[in-house]
Amino acid sequence: MPREPKYTYSETFFSIQGEGRYCGVPTVWLRLFGCNFRCSGFLQDNLDDPSTWVLDFEDLDPSQYTSLQDLPVFRRGCDSSYSWAKKFRPMAPRRTALEIAHELRSLLPGLILQTSQIRPSQPSSLYWRRTFASAERDRRYHGEA
Ligand code: SF4
Repeated sequence: MPREPKYTYSETFFSIQGEGRYCGVPTVWLRLFGCNFRCSGFLQDNLDDPSTWVLDFEDLDPSQYTSLQDLPVFRRGCDSSYSWAKKFRPMAPRRTALEIAHELRSLLPGLILQTSQIRPSQPSSLYWRRTFASAERDRRYHGEA
């Protein structure tokens, strides 16, 4: 039997959707590890000269921390550098989609699944939707609220 693929992610959290069709709806978020953007300009003194930019995460020693949640807030550059900088990857959880779906369900029973920048018909989106449906069936089977 093939092993279930595992996904590395930096966090799951609960918040209120602030944009788009589901604006105002209580939502849980899954931040997969490996954002491929590099938004390093936040709060830099001279936006026009990247050679002057200071990135707070670069000087941080990950061995001083036991989990991503313990890291300080990065003020300059991407404040979510912990979700893509390779030095933080060993600290990130790695779980199957079903395990992640259960974790998200525990944050907000009755959640709405929204996948970022993926059209609903794309295979990866369908995969996550099916996984959530499976988590929902498990939850009902075990009589959870
Ligand atoms: S995680 Fe950071 S680099 Fe990625 S899109 Fe957000 S701000 Fe930009």
